[in-house]
Amino acid sequence: MNILTQDIKYLQGVGPNRATLLANELNIKTVGDLLAYYPYKYVDRSRIYKISEIDGSMPYVQLCGQIFSFDTVGEGRNKRLIAHFADGTGTIDLVWFQGIKYVAQNYDCRKSYIVFGKPTVFNGHLQIAHPEIDSAPAPKEGELAQAAIPDIWKGELFGEYERVATEAHRVSPPPMGVGGLCPSYNTSEKMKRSGLNSSAIVKLTANLLKLLKEPLAETLPPYIVQQHHFMSYDEAVRNIHYPSSPEALRHAQLRLKFEELFYVQLNILRYVKDRQLRYKGIVMNTVGEQFNGFFYHHLPFQLTEAQKRVIREIRTDMKSGRQMNRLLQGDVGSGKTLVALMVALIAIDNGCQACIMAPTEILAEQHLATLRKFLGDMPVRVELLTGSVKGKRRTEVFKGLVAGDIDILVGTHAVIEDNVLFHQLGLVVIDEQHRFGVAQRAKLWMKNAVPPHVLVMTATPIPRTLAMTLYGDLDVSIIDELPPGRKPIRTVHMFDAHRPRIYELMRRELQQGRQIYIVYPLIKETEKMDLKDLEAGFEEISKAFPDYQVSKVHGKMKPADKDAEMQRFANHETHILVSTTVIEVGVNVPNASVMIIENAERFGLSQLHQLRGRVGRGADQSYCVLVSKLEIGETTRKRIQVMVDTTDGFEIAEQDLKLRGPGDLEGTQQSGMAFDLKIANLARDGQILTIARDTAQSVIASDPEERNPQNDILWRRLRELRKDNVNWGAIS
Ligand code: ADP
Ligand code: MG
Repeated sequence: MNILTQDIKYLQGVGPNRATLLANELNIKTVGDLLAYYPYKYVDRSRIYKISEIDGSMPYVQLCGQIFSFDTVGEGRNKRLIAHFADGTGTIDLVWFQGIKYVAQNYDCRKSYIVFGKPTVFNGHLQIAHPEIDSAPAPKEGELAQAAIPDIWKGELFGEYERVATEAHRVSPPPMGVGGLCPSYNTSEKMKRSGLNSSAIVKLTANLLKLLKEPLAETLPPYIVQQHHFMSYDEAVRNIHYPSSPEALRHAQLRLKFEELFYVQLNILRYVKDRQLRYKGIVMNTVGEQFNGFFYHHLPFQLTEAQKRVIREIRTDMKSGRQMNRLLQGDVGSGKTLVALMVALIAIDNGCQACIMAPTEILAEQHLATLRKFLGDMPVRVELLTGSVKGKRRTEVFKGLVAGDIDILVGTHAVIEDNVLFHQLGLVVIDEQHRFGVAQRAKLWMKNAVPPHVLVMTATPIPRTLAMTLYGDLDVSIIDELPPGRKPIRTVHMFDAHRPRIYELMRRELQQGRQIYIVYPLIKETEKMDLKDLEAGFEEISKAFPDYQVSKVHGKMKPADKDAEMQRFANHETHILVSTTVIEVGVNVPNASVMIIENAERFGLSQLHQLRGRVGRGADQSYCVLVSKLEIGETTRKRIQVMVDTTDGFEIAEQDLKLRGPGDLEGTQQSGMAFDLKIANLARDGQILTIARDTAQSVIASDPEERNPQNDILWRRLRELRKDNVNWGAIS
């Protein structure tokens, strides 16, 4: 029987209670799960300090000595347990605020312990709060007479005490990694309260690795291990917990990171291959009347080179006989809507219908208006389907779709409902991808006998490494060029105290006939407070600019009132729009030249980028003012600086990933794809990811039928991983 699949509760030192904790808190259910629970850091425990060497400014240190007495001080929430600890060179207090009972029951006076923690000075005394404690090996016979100690400790015989403790000091540290690097494991508060802290896990993993006498079975085929000069799996796992040297640790990390990313990629690419085998694409090889009619007679401007290139890439997919699954990335204002329209016209030229999905009703309505305006008098019928389209209108749309009278359907999620049936759906365009999971995309395929081509558009640029993991099943096209004549927006960071200068800029722009946005953050929890900010801001602005009309828009308004107010701003009836983030998506007022973002520190980078994208839509110089309070943290300051330094959405996304880490990245949570990477880090391990993807690609390309016995190990491992990791299932 494979020890790795055994229930964790049978591992020595675990038992039913700890097993429940491990399962609930860390999802560790089997021995194998524990083995795959990697340390988050390593501490050099090759050295034991003397208490006399310690001061409050030192990082984590390791001490060896004995507890000579316990004290409980304080009441209620202030209650704490203090263990007075000495090693013959001095004394230090070990302090616990939680888990007091556990400590009192499990540690004894006069036994030798290795103590590990961060020393601080409190009330003139050295102390370590919540240290990790391990019992030090019992002193050898004769070196230290355990039995003789009790009486000595009772008195104030410090001379004696020092002698004893000095002996204890010579006790060697517990056998950690030979290299002296000791693992630290993340555990939850709940676990710590039950004594299942990092050092308890250290004991479990140390114990487990000793039990594993046989080398662990390889998890990659030998040819891949050799190709990349990897450590064996067995060595890697042992070294990731107990590194034999810093060098070995790096090798172990490399191998395990690669492996993790490799299997994610293998899973994605295999899914892509299956999809290609299973589904043929509708062959659209005609570029006919509608496309050409539009291109030659209705297109109001020259396409940018990037738009042309992207349309060519999409066209190639559409006539290939394979189903297109393509991600179109393009910065705010790069002209994606037009690309969507032109591609839809190709579908129509090939006797198909197209469907364009937007994340909100406002955006869907705006798309409808934009498309109708672009098309002018062309015989292409575009209709809207959202939750607000009801009754007779809805029935009409349903009828038109089934009959094939409607050429392009624009809508929200409403279009993926089962009762929406098409005559011949050939193309689906999804705008703002990040709100659509893979499963939802797949649902769209079922709307036609042969699945429609799918184009996913996003204005939230995704760093390459993230895209490869999140949207690794999609081919990628990028519009990396803005339509000509746009001046880069000038961005400045100002503090509240700079208000007069901000007003000066506003006045100057207003005098030139421009319009201004002022945006306040809106976070659900504090909605009331935010609205107060907005109201106060509105009052202040109205007073400061009495000659101009000021609009106010926020999410609590009735949609009709909101639309009317937006419309007034769009018609230039009002000059300043004070609003919450409701304007983030969709508004297009080319005459607006200033975007002022209040409390900019409370916005995410990509949100700031989207907001800034509301200006700079005309040919004039535009400005973005990021206003923050004076005291902001270092990371926040860096984030704002990124906005000041660049207008390149891709650069911003990269920086965002670096500053926040992938888990926090806006929009990624809903993607439904593997995200709980155990060891690899998408922000830092881009290079490993690229190699992992290339390797996975060559496996699939060289062994598409999965017949090569050398690769059996891969498919078996993939099955195991998929079974274990719920998230992985989401992409198939
Ligand atoms: P996004 O990529 O953010 O969806 P839009 O499609 O809304 O961008 O385009 C932004 C603006 O640029 C629109 O007003 C659109 O009409 C205009 N536009 C698109 N392509 C071009 C082009 N090639 N030349 C000039 N303006 C263009
Ligand atoms: Mg758009």
